[in-house]
Amino acid sequence: MPFECRGCWHVWEEDYVVRRSEDDHGNEGEVWLRAGLRVPPPSSGALCPHCGCEHATTFPDGYLARHPELIPPAEPVVPDATPLLSPVPRPLY
Ligand SMILES: [Zn+2]
Repeated sequence: MPFECRGCWHVWEEDYVVRRSEDDHGNEGEVWLRAGLRVPPPSSGALCPHCGCEHATTFPDGYLARHPELIPPAEPVVPDATPLLSPVPRPLY
């Protein structure tokens, strides 16, 4: 899920898994998992890894695919089933 910091406009992505669950009273809830650990929903305050500001907003999925210029150029290589956007260097001639 893409995030954008409202403080420094840093854009980053974090992978969350959202599970819908019902408790014993039939109340539907959402459980947010990140790397297998339960975490608070990012809507309640995602921390910007750049400036630590808590006022981060989320993008709809696919937003960064339409705005590849927002993706930092140097990203760690993570094995992923989804195809990566790899800019092809243009020939110089
Ligand atoms: Zn920030």
